[in-house]
Amino acid sequence: MAPAEGAAMNRPGFLAGLAAVGVAGAAPAGAADSYAQSVDDLVAANRILAQLNVVDGFGHVSVRDPRDPSHYLLARSMAPALVTAADIQLYDLRSVPLDPNARPSYLERFIHGAIYAARPDVVSVVHSHTESVIPFADTGVTLRPMFHMASFLGGGAPIFDIRSAGGDGTDMLISNQTLGDALARTLGSADVALMRGHGMVAVGTSIPEAVFRAYYTGEDARLEAEALRLGTPTYLSPAEAAHATRTNTALVGRAWALWKRAAMGS
Ligand code: MN
Repeated sequence: MAPAEGAAMNRPGFLAGLAAVGVAGAAPAGAADSYAQSVDDLVAANRILAQLNVVDGFGHVSVRDPRDPSHYLLARSMAPALVTAADIQLYDLRSVPLDPNARPSYLERFIHGAIYAARPDVVSVVHSHTESVIPFADTGVTLRPMFHMASFLGGGAPIFDIRSAGGDGTDMLISNQTLGDALARTLGSADVALMRGHGMVAVGTSIPEAVFRAYYTGEDARLEAEALRLGTPTYLSPAEAAHATRTNTALVGRAWALWKRAAMGS
């Protein structure tokens, strides 16, 4: 726009003109930017979760496609610490790869698709075999918020027993849609679900939040097991858990920045 034209326009007209340019010009580029950012953050999340020992050779993390909520991004079947942007693949919510020539997929990708289908609020899902949560998953002793960093556990961490959907004799993996849907039903509206004889899932409204919850769930389980050996713990009350969660939600970015630099060097 020439300066003379801008000067000649009345102010509401000028603002409307700017808005029109923004909507028409920035939306496609913004979508591409947010997709690139999702890929970048997903690669970082894989490395971070490995560095924090939340995942090892196994486990995975996904993110909903910011361009289309009926798709999600997940690495091909490989160890999380080795994931690069070239390894990220797109899936629909039935966990079918969009690319017919996609490389081999994680057997348990159904965890991700089923949760995204059941929970429109979820943007990222972590699945891990975090050993510290297994005693809680296997005994039914309730995992509770031991300290403020795990305050989100005040919302409960239901336990999924694969026998409820797959009967006795499965290989313990969430390897089809039926098992994925059953796990998503057990998760319900919680942020974390434990999986008997297997591990856990943690979800979030962003990749950093899902990573934060996955990490601190494992730390909380370790602390609770230690505390139960010493005596009778006093857990965060429901009111403390709710208030601490509101505070922590605003602080997730601080941990993420540190973890990302340690994992990616930037
Ligand atoms: Mn697994």
